[in-house]
Amino acid sequence: MEQTWSRYLGYTLAALAGTTLIGLYFGYPLYGLFAGLVLYLLWSLHQIRRLAQWLSDPDTAGEAPQSIGIWGDLFERLHKLNKNYLRTQDELRTRIDRIQESTNAMRDGVIMTNARGALEWWNGSAEHLLGFRRSTDQGQYIYNLIRTPAFKAYFDSMDYREPLELHSPAKPHIHLQIQISLFGNNDRLIVAKDVTRLHQLEQMRRDFVSNVSHEMRTPLTVISGYLETLVDNADDLPPKWRRAINTMATQSFRMETLISDLILLSRIETGDQTENNEPTDIGRLITQICQDAQTLSGENQHDIRLEAISPQQLTGDENQLRSAFSNLIFNAVKYTPAKGRIRVSWFTDHKGGHLSVKDTGAGIDEVHIPRLTERFYRADPSRHKDTGGTGLGLAIVKHVLINHDGSLEIKSRFGEGSEFICHFPAERLASQTTD
Ligand code: ADP
Repeated sequence: MEQTWSRYLGYTLAALAGTTLIGLYFGYPLYGLFAGLVLYLLWSLHQIRRLAQWLSDPDTAGEAPQSIGIWGDLFERLHKLNKNYLRTQDELRTRIDRIQESTNAMRDGVIMTNARGALEWWNGSAEHLLGFRRSTDQGQYIYNLIRTPAFKAYFDSMDYREPLELHSPAKPHIHLQIQISLFGNNDRLIVAKDVTRLHQLEQMRRDFVSNVSHEMRTPLTVISGYLETLVDNADDLPPKWRRAINTMATQSFRMETLISDLILLSRIETGDQTENNEPTDIGRLITQICQDAQTLSGENQHDIRLEAISPQQLTGDENQLRSAFSNLIFNAVKYTPAKGRIRVSWFTDHKGGHLSVKDTGAGIDEVHIPRLTERFYRADPSRHKDTGGTGLGLAIVKHVLINHDGSLEIKSRFGEGSEFICHFPAERLASQTTD
């Protein structure tokens, strides 16, 4: 560039020297120089005018003006720059069009909002699933269009590890799963998936289990009743029948427990929220359960103690909470060897209420911990024969906690005992008891 510039300076000076020499020939060198400068100025002004005209032409893709010297070079460079710019713009537009076409072809609704939730862009499926309209909804706040309070809370929470399920605001029969991702400056990319079919199948599965359990309950009660009578009159039976009758009675008792757990689980699962939402005295509840646990422990003489009891009550369904806490406390008895220690506490802090059940029992290998709340999952399948468990206890606990906006934390080491903690949010804590 420096070289070209020196060359053009050389040409200009040479031209001015030429006009000065012509002036000198006529005896007026200064007039010659002046005339050269004026001509150069006029030519430059003309080039500037051509440049201005070319730049103001909307069709700037057209050929640039031709010229010589530094102006010719300048026009050439600007023309190249302009061509590159237009090509990049074309490429970007094609790419954006393709992305929009592909997202439009998606069956999931895709929505982009800014950090405050104002709609910026959405695809065709979002219009179909959520009822957004391009003519009126551009720039609207998304939570004014999806008015479910759970959605607003989810949107503001900034914690999008778990998806949210809700009914479509436009077509209530459509069940949607919403997943939000953050990008840019806290802008949101929202994906709405139609999970209606999955939801129906899940509902069918629940109904099936619930119906089968209810249907089986009556015949089983009859069989158990007869078996109980036979066990009571075992002395009248031939000796070879006694063992068989006793085994049948034990197994029918196990089946009854299993069926009542299945019925309880499906009731807890299907209830949208808790059936009764009333302040529950957790201290009283766990004191009763611990007394029952001591009876269950019997000859094993576990050392069961309540360590802390906060007077604060918990808003919820007492029956569901009783099922959850008894499952945890009875499990501690089942999985702790004789004379082991079991500590139960109910305490509150700024995060909410916490119920902890700690034992010095068998403990659980950490590989099993994430799966313990699955139905029929057992850390050690051989163990359930001794305990007579159904494998549904922790699944019941999990669903009761979901119904109470809570969560279950499991701390355990194989051979070193376990601690199960139910966490409840502060909003669920009711005022203190007066007595
Ligand atoms: P189960 O009827 O088999 O007790 P649960 O759902 O209550 O079913 O528990 C699932 C599994 O978790 C149990 O089979 C057992 O392996 C393990 N478990 C639960 N509580 C404890 C505990 N306190 N100590 C050790 N293992 C436990």
